[in-house]
Formats: sequence, structure tokens, C-alpha cells
Amino acid sequence: MIIKTKKEEFESYLEDTSNLYGNASSLYIVKSRDELIELIRDFNKHKARFTISAGRTGTTGGCVPLEGVIISIEQLKSIIEIDKDKKTMHLETGLTFKEFEGITAKNNLMLRACPTESLAFIGGAISTCASGVRGFGYGSIRNYISEIEVILPTGEPMVIKRGTIFSKERLFDFEYKGKKFKFKLPSYTAPKIKSQAGYFVHSNMDLIDLFIGSEGTLGVVVAVKIDLQDKPVDVFDGLIFFKKETQGLGFIAEIKNLKQKNLLKPTSLEFFDENSLNMLREEYSFVPACECAVYFEQAIEPCDKPDILMDKWVNLIEESFALTEKSLLADTSQERERIFEFRHRLPQLINEYLRNYKQLKTAVDCAVPHNSFTYMYNFYKEKAKESGIRYVNFGHIGEDHLHFNFLPKATQETFTAKKYMEMFCKKAVSLGGTVSAEHGIGKIKKPYLKIMYDKSQIEEMARLKKYFDPNCIMGLDNIFEKEILSSI
Ligand SMILES: Cc1cc2nc3c(=O)[nH]c(=O)nc-3n(C[C@H](O)[C@H](O)[C@H](O)COP(=O)(O)OP(=O)(O)OC[C@H]3O[C@@H](n4cnc5c(N)ncnc54)[C@H](O)[C@@H]3O)c2cc1C
Repeated sequence: MIIKTKKEEFESYLEDTSNLYGNASSLYIVKSRDELIELIRDFNKHKARFTISAGRTGTTGGCVPLEGVIISIEQLKSIIEIDKDKKTMHLETGLTFKEFEGITAKNNLMLRACPTESLAFIGGAISTCASGVRGFGYGSIRNYISEIEVILPTGEPMVIKRGTIFSKERLFDFEYKGKKFKFKLPSYTAPKIKSQAGYFVHSNMDLIDLFIGSEGTLGVVVAVKIDLQDKPVDVFDGLIFFKKETQGLGFIAEIKNLKQKNLLKPTSLEFFDENSLNMLREEYSFVPACECAVYFEQAIEPCDKPDILMDKWVNLIEESFALTEKSLLADTSQERERIFEFRHRLPQLINEYLRNYKQLKTAVDCAVPHNSFTYMYNFYKEKAKESGIRYVNFGHIGEDHLHFNFLPKATQETFTAKKYMEMFCKKAVSLGGTVSAEHGIGKIKKPYLKIMYDKSQIEEMARLKKYFDPNCIMGLDNIFEKEILSSI
């Protein structure tokens, strides 16, 4: 184990991409799962607090410690087994997505639902239940996890296989290695739309799903069995520009409609508003003057006829009055990478901008039920204009989920932006939506979770955490304030 006690040696572990800056007395980099078990047992015995750190690409301060020590899983990188026939990979969770994808590619397989940021760890992605640009086609990482090994905050390891331990209504009652576990789930039900706000809970649920997305508060996910898929026969992408926003939104509505009727199965459908394009144009001169753009990805499966599929897209694009001459269609891996990089560059530019102005991330990633999306979109626009603060709005429009980011230049603007963010979250919840569709609550979005769930429901979450972490030592201040833990 590597232990660093001088702050200057582990300063980068005190922040993530939210720009929240934390505090810790030391950093422990464990070299094995056994070492981690010993360490956590010891911490539990001495009631010593710790925060798990993975790729630190999170946007909500989840891995940022406010006290205690940091444990990094960056050296837990073993590949336990790749079963090419069953298309599964069993691995430790300290691998980055880049490393993971390198290995799956060598085996001619892939995880199609790949979260966007390649520097994120597998463990971080599981703990935030990440989804990415292909969420429209494949959903979140949750759908592909068949087994996890968790080290509970008491230091007990537990292997959870999907399909083996279920709650009865809201009650879990099971035995694991001779120890009895009996606890009640919170009374709320996680929204049916894409959501990563608080613990994932519903009646008769699988235990594995409780740990996925639990944001480093219930246990350390040290190993996982992931279901992989064959690579598609081919893939093509499009980056389509629209002079008028209404044209772009009409195109999106048509694609969604076709998908619903099973007549088209795009794997990505992403949106960029005019402000996003203005920001990107500074680096990508090919972006024309226009009001919006749509990025899509279409996988070609063995049953598809590529030419017919491509023609279908070309017709849809032409019929929607897109700026066809300026738009890009990519069917080589090089061209596709260029478009993918373009899509991925926007959140990076936002993070760089905020870092430059030394401002906290001021973004919401609400999702709403499909029939409320247009209303929510117009609400964002109207209120953002009223605020007078620069902003961009982009993201996973296929799932009725956008990343609305204010771009404040000074603390006063951040202060104002926060009021508007609260307004957005209230509106999303009133429409049956969620305050976070994929980035989680972490430390900086706790006020918004209170809009979605009432005090007693948040206390129920805290009670659940305390069941697994009786000494309240792990991932404190994530999802809810640690003070709640002492009051229940
Ligand atoms: C440019 C950019 C684009 C992004 N795009 C997307 C996107 O499209 N979709 C998306 O979902 N996210 C996206 N993100 C956010 C981020 O990449 C994800 O939240 C990611 O899953 C975090 O992984 P990480 O390894 O960096 O975790 P960290 O930030 O290190 O940690 C996140 C949380 O998980 C906990 N944790 C980490 N590992 C473990 C573990 N093994 N066991 C228990 N708890 C653990 C931490 O304590 C913390 O609470 C993006 C980020 C950036 C910077």
C-alpha cells in the first residue's frame, strides 16, 4: 500500500470536475482487495472516515473528501477472467474505460453502453450508474452488470450475483455467509425515466441494483462481471446542422417517433443548442452559423441492409431542411472519431471555462417524461434569458435529458445561477422528472434532491446507509448531509 501524508503529494485527489475542492489528511493507494479489506476493517474499528476515489471525472464532488482520508482504487486493475463464449468479463474496478475498451476490442467484443469519459474507472461508473452518448440505444451501465464484489464499510466482502437476492416488497431479509441481513428500503420509488438521484429503490428489487449508483456510500465495488456484446457489423454517425432550432427539434421528434415504432434504432441522439455551437466553433471552424445541431449514431447489425439504412437517414435529413452541405456523415472510424471527439469536447470546454473563472460547476442534468420535454426545454430558454448569464444546453435529447450549464464568470453570477438551477429542478420534478438523470447527487446537488424527496424519504435513505455503515465512516456528505446520520 502506498500512503501519502503530505498534501502537496495528493492535491489532485482533492477535486473532481465539479471544481469543489476538499480536504483530507492522507491518501491510501491500495494494491489488492485483501489489503483494502484489512484497511477498511481497521478504519471501521477506529471509526476513521474515508472517501473512495476513482477516475475523479465525476461532476458532483462525490469523490472529493471533506474530511478523513482518501482511498484510491487505481491499482486494482486485474482482469480476473474473459469468457469469450459467454461474452463476459470479470475484472477489478480500478481500470479506466480506455484500458477496459482496449481489452474488449482485442477480444473482438465491446460494452456498447459505454459512458462517455474514457478516464472514468469502471468502479466510478458503477457507483454513479453512468450512461453516455449511447444511452438512447443501450441504457446505462446497470443493464450490463451481472455480478459485483463489494467491501462493506464494516470490512466484510460480499459477492452479489444478479438474480439471487431480492427484496420482498420493501424488505430485504437474507443470509450471507452465515450472517443475517434484514433491512427496510425507503418508501419512494425511483422514477421510471432515466434517473440517478438518490438510491435506486423499488419493490421486489434485486440487491445488486441497490449498490449500483450508490455513489460511494454503501460499499466499495472492487470487482465486477460485465456482460459484453459483439461489435456491430458497422456504424455510421452524423453531425447535422440546422439553420432554425424548430427544424432540428422537428428532426429529433421524427427520429424518436420512428424509434418508438421500431422503424429505426439509432444508438445515439444528441443535441447542441446555438450557444453550445458558438462555444465549439472557437475550436471547430467547420461549425456553420446556425441555431442547433444533432449528433446521431446508427449501428449496423447483421440483419440490416446498410444502403437502405443510410438512404433512410439521408431522406430524413433532407426532409427536415438541415444544412446538408455543412453537415457531416461519417462511416470511417477516423471520421467517426472526429465527430465523437467534437461531441465530447463540449463538456471539457465547459469544465475548462469554469476552472479558468474559478467557479463551481453550475449545471443541472434533469430529465422529464417525454410529453413534458418541449415545455421543459422552453422553460430553460425563457429563464436562462431572464437570468442574463451565459449558458449552454446540450446532451442526451433522445432520453429527454439535457445538460443545462450556466457559465458564470464571477461568484455573484454563480449565486444567481444557483437560484435558477433550483427553479429548473423544481419545474422538472413538478413535471414528473428527476433532478439528476446521470451525474448523481454527490456533494453539490444535495439541495436539489430535497426537491425530489421529502425529509422523511431522505431520512429513510440515511437509515439504509447506516444499516451498512453503522459507524458512519464511508463517503460522508454524499447524497445527504452527514448530520442526518447522527439524528436518526
Ligand atoms: C468530459 C466529461 C464527460 C462526461 N460525460 C458523462 C456521460 O456522458 N455520462 C455520465 O454518466 N457521466 C459523464 N461524466 C461524468 C463522470 O465521467 C461519471 O460520473 C463517471 O462515472 C465517474 O467515474 P470516476 O471513475 O471518475 O469516479 P469518481 O469521480 O472518482 O467518483 C464518483 C463517485 O463514485 C464513488 N466511487 C468511485 N469508485 C468507487 C468504487 N469502486 N466503489 C464505491 N464507490 C466508488 C466515489 O466515491 C464518488 O462518490 C462526464 C465527465 C466528464 C469530465
